[in-house]
Amino acid sequence: RKGNVIITGASSGLGLATAKALADTGKWHIIMACRNFLKAERAAKAAGIAKENYTVMHLDLASLDSVRQFVENFHRLGRPLDVLVCNAAVYLPTAKEPSFTAEGFELSVGTNHLGHFLLSRLLLDDMKQSDFTSKRVIIVGSITGNTNTLAGNVPPKANLGDLRGLSGGLNGLNGSPMIDGGDFDGAKAYKDSKVCNMLTMQEFHRRYHEETGITFASLYPGCIATTGLFREHIPLFRLLFPPFQKYITKGYVSEEEAGERLAQVVSDPSLTKSGVYWSWNKNSASFENQLSKEASDAEKARKVWEISEKLVGLA
Ligand code: NDP
Repeated sequence: RKGNVIITGASSGLGLATAKALADTGKWHIIMACRNFLKAERAAKAAGIAKENYTVMHLDLASLDSVRQFVENFHRLGRPLDVLVCNAAVYLPTAKEPSFTAEGFELSVGTNHLGHFLLSRLLLDDMKQSDFTSKRVIIVGSITGNTNTLAGNVPPKANLGDLRGLSGGLNGLNGSPMIDGGDFDGAKAYKDSKVCNMLTMQEFHRRYHEETGITFASLYPGCIATTGLFREHIPLFRLLFPPFQKYITKGYVSEEEAGERLAQVVSDPSLTKSGVYWSWNKNSASFENQLSKEASDAEKARKVWEISEKLVGLA
């Protein structure tokens, strides 16, 4: 049978390119989990993804009710779940004031981390029941959350601190909207959310890999400077960022190539190692990359997991 993969945020950028790459193999059925149903349908058609290879389902990660509803709707489809790709993200680098999710969490961490945290926890049982040979949960990470890299050292740097803001609920009412308890900074909130994504992947690995055989992995697909992720940035940045990445840093990767990379992490038989953060070298060969000190801190991963459980109502 075909593999069944859920990809969040498959209506544009990396998610769409990955859906296309997997659909073209004829071996996958893609559940495109998207906040804008019509946009996703149009994007799938425009990308030339064959009708029988995908299903669009509504999911708004900025609402925990929507996450729970999505899981119920997925169950009604009656399909097994073999691979889950947590890909969707928002990036608000120029925001002066924080925005919030339906439950009142700062929007970047609320969407990128907490929404995906609840989704992946609720779908774990489905994955356990699947008889697929290589079951995987993939959480897209980023170089920008890794302060052991050049890109990760561009201020404001990721830093979860002692997690006091996260413990306080990130709501800006009785505390800070930032995980470390500091003042709101949209670019930092995104980087912090990516650190949470990478810590969550490793904590999943420690808690569930042996028992379930599921591969948990993260990746940095390269700098896909053309995606909608930068839509909130100032126009001059959007103009100069792609050529800067292409010719100066040489970290640029096309959406198509990035989609091929994530598709490898979904289905390549040689990428089954669990607890790993994948990157690609200049020849587009995958290798196991090192995470920064904070992004590989096991104690912090456990704390983020436990606090997140409380925030999303799992504990
Ligand atoms: P895009 O903005 O093109 O894609 C992000 C997707 O997330 C969109 O489909 C968007 O939906 C969706 N999304 C946003 N908010 C929600 C929500 N509340 N509920 C459901 N879906 C939502 O950016 P990219 O493709 O670049 O980003 C994809 C992933 O790649 C992210 O995890 C990002 O952190 C990561 N990444 C990107 C890099 C880059 O250089 N671009 C580098 C490293 C990592 P909609 O279409 O409706 O807007």
